[in-house]
Amino acid sequence: MKRFYHILALACAALLLTACPGPIEPDGPDGPVPPDESWRNAASKEKLSGITYQLNVYSFADSDGDGWGDIKGITQHLDYLDSLGATALWLSPIHEAMSYHGYNVNDYTTVSSKLGTEADLKDLIAKAKNKNIGIYLDFVLNHSGSDNKWFKAAAADPSSPYRNYYLFSDTPSGYNNGGMGTWYPITGADAGYKGRVHFKVDMNAKTVTVTQSTAAPQSPNTQNPKCWLWYGSVSQHVGLYTTGTNLYEITLDIDTDWGFLVCTSTNWADGTKWGGTGKGVTFGVPFQMNNTTAANITFGGDASYYFASFDKSMPDLNYGPAATASVSPAFKDLADAADKWIKMGVAGLRLDAVIWIYQNNTADNVTFLKQWYDRCNTTWKANGGQGDFYMVGEAWMDKVEQMAPYYEGLPSNFNFYYWWTLKDRINKGKGDDFAKTVIYFQDQFKKYNPGYIDAIKLTNHDEDRAAHDLGRDVAKEKLAGAVLLTSPGKPYIYQGEELGYWGNKGGGDEFVRSPIKWTRSGSVPSTALNGKVDNAMLSESISVEAQEQDKASILRVYRNFAQARNAWKALAKGQITEVKSPNSAVALWTMSYEGQTVLVAHNFGSGSAAFAVTGYKTDKMIVSNGMADGSSGILSLGAYASAVFLQ
Ligand code: MG
Repeated sequence: MKRFYHILALACAALLLTACPGPIEPDGPDGPVPPDESWRNAASKEKLSGITYQLNVYSFADSDGDGWGDIKGITQHLDYLDSLGATALWLSPIHEAMSYHGYNVNDYTTVSSKLGTEADLKDLIAKAKNKNIGIYLDFVLNHSGSDNKWFKAAAADPSSPYRNYYLFSDTPSGYNNGGMGTWYPITGADAGYKGRVHFKVDMNAKTVTVTQSTAAPQSPNTQNPKCWLWYGSVSQHVGLYTTGTNLYEITLDIDTDWGFLVCTSTNWADGTKWGGTGKGVTFGVPFQMNNTTAANITFGGDASYYFASFDKSMPDLNYGPAATASVSPAFKDLADAADKWIKMGVAGLRLDAVIWIYQNNTADNVTFLKQWYDRCNTTWKANGGQGDFYMVGEAWMDKVEQMAPYYEGLPSNFNFYYWWTLKDRINKGKGDDFAKTVIYFQDQFKKYNPGYIDAIKLTNHDEDRAAHDLGRDVAKEKLAGAVLLTSPGKPYIYQGEELGYWGNKGGGDEFVRSPIKWTRSGSVPSTALNGKVDNAMLSESISVEAQEQDKASILRVYRNFAQARNAWKALAKGQITEVKSPNSAVALWTMSYEGQTVLVAHNFGSGSAAFAVTGYKTDKMIVSNGMADGSSGILSLGAYASAVFLQ
C-alpha cells in the first residue's frame, strides 16, 4: 500500500526547543520493552547483521604485563565486548610473523608466542561462545613473510618444492597491474649460502664455477694473490691460488648472507670488481661475470628477483592460473592451515588484500576466492558448523562499482564507501541523501550476490581514525556511531572507536592502532607499537573506566545503540526504505523485518531540526542520543542527535 506523508516543517526552532522536553540522556533503550529478548541469542549465530568488534590483539589488553596485548587479555575483557553487543570479534593476525602487526606471516599453523598459545585461543573460543560471540581470524593469502620457511627455501634453491609458491624471475617485469608491487632482488639471507664449496675463477672466459665440495678446505693464499673472493662480512676477502693462465681456485667453508664477488684487485674502485647481472649461481655450472654492473653474485639459482605487492618482507604467494588455483601447492598448504583453525572453532575469516592476489585482476581474484571460500565452507560444514561459513574480504577499491563484483567470490566484503559517504555528509551537515546512498550500495552488491552481507564500518587499522576525520568533534563521533549501529548490514566497530580515539597515519600506522586505556591510572600495552602511542590522547578521561561512569560518554552511545540493535530485530535485520526528509540535514529511513518496523532519524547538522512526519509514529522511542523528542507528534532533533521510533 502506498503511503502518503504529510510533512510539516516548522520554522521556529527556538520555540520548539523550549516547548519540547529537555535533552534526553543517552541512557539506553528506554522505550517499550522488546517483545523477545531471546532474539539476540539466536541472532548472534547468524552472520547477516550482528555487530563485529575489530581488535588488534597486540594492543587490546595485556594479561601478563609484558607490554604486548595477548589472547588471554581478550578473554579477560569478554564482558566489555559483550556490553558493546558484539556477536563476533575480528582478531588481527595471530600467527608467528615478522612484524608486530602480523601481516607478514612466518607460519600459518601457529599462534605467535608473543600473543599466547593455542590453549589460550581454544579458551577464548569457548568462553566467547558462551556469550554467543564468534571468533574471526585475519588470514593473509596475498603474501607470506619473507622469513617464512617456504620463501627461504624457495629463494635459496631453484629446485626447492616451494619455488612455485612465489613469483620469481630473471627478467623482472609484468605483474604490476594497478601500480602496486615491485620486483625485489634476492638479497640478505635469501641470497646466501653456508657450507663447503670450491671456487674456480676463469678470467679468460670471465666465469666463476661454484661446486659443493667434500675436499679439505684450504687456507687463503696470502702470497701475492692475483684474485680475491669477497663474501660474508664486508671485510672478509681471501686470496685464491693460481692454477693456470688466468685460472684461480680455492676450496673454502663459507657463511655468507648476500652471496659473493670476485675481485682482481683489492681496490674496489678501479674497475676490477667482477659480479653478476642479478642472476645467481647454479652449482657446477660456469657463471658469467661482468665488471660493469657487477651486482652481488647470489646463490639464488636461475632466478634472482621476487615479486611483492606491498613490501619486500611480504613476497606475493603464487597460486598458478586462477582457474586451477585450488590444486596449487600453496593453496593446499594455506587451506590445510585454515582447516586447523576452523576445526578448532573459529567462526569466520577476514581476508587481507584480496584484490592483489592476482594483481588487481578482478575476474581472476573472484575465481580464486570462490575456490577458497568453498574449501573453507566445506570444512566448516563437515565439522558441524551451522549455516554457511562467514568470510569477509578486504577488496579496497576506489569505487563501489569496482568492488561489487567481489561478491561473486565472497559472501561479505568491507564497505569502505559507507564511511567515505558518512564522513563527507556529517562534515557537510547533509543527511537527506544518506539512506538513498546506502540503498544504492546495496543495489550494486545485489547484482552479484543476492545473499550479500554488507560489512559496514567507519575506519580500520589502515585508515586515519574516524574521530580524526570528524575534526575530533565528540558530538559528530557519537552521531557516526549511532548511524553505523542503525544501518542495514553487518557493522564493524574498530578498537577505540567507541571511546573516541583519534589519530592519523602521518606519524606512523601505530597511531591508528592505539592500545585500549582500560583504567584511569593504568598503563597501556605499547611494547608492540615500539612506544609509538599518543599519551596525550590516552588520558584518564578517555579511559574505559571514566567513560563507563560518564552518562554522556561516547562509549555509552555505542552501548545504547548496540543494545537497541540487538534487542529490536527490525533494526538489525530490517529492509531499509528511504523516507523523504523535509530537512536537508536529517537522514530518515525505516527498517522492517517480520512485521516489525522502526523509524530511524539522524540529524547530521549543527543546528536543531523539527518537523512532523505523518504516517509514522514518534511516540515510542527505542533509543536516542542528544536532544531528541517525538512525543508531541513533532519529531525534533538537536544538533547531531539521533532517535529510533517503533512503528
Ligand atoms: Mg602480554
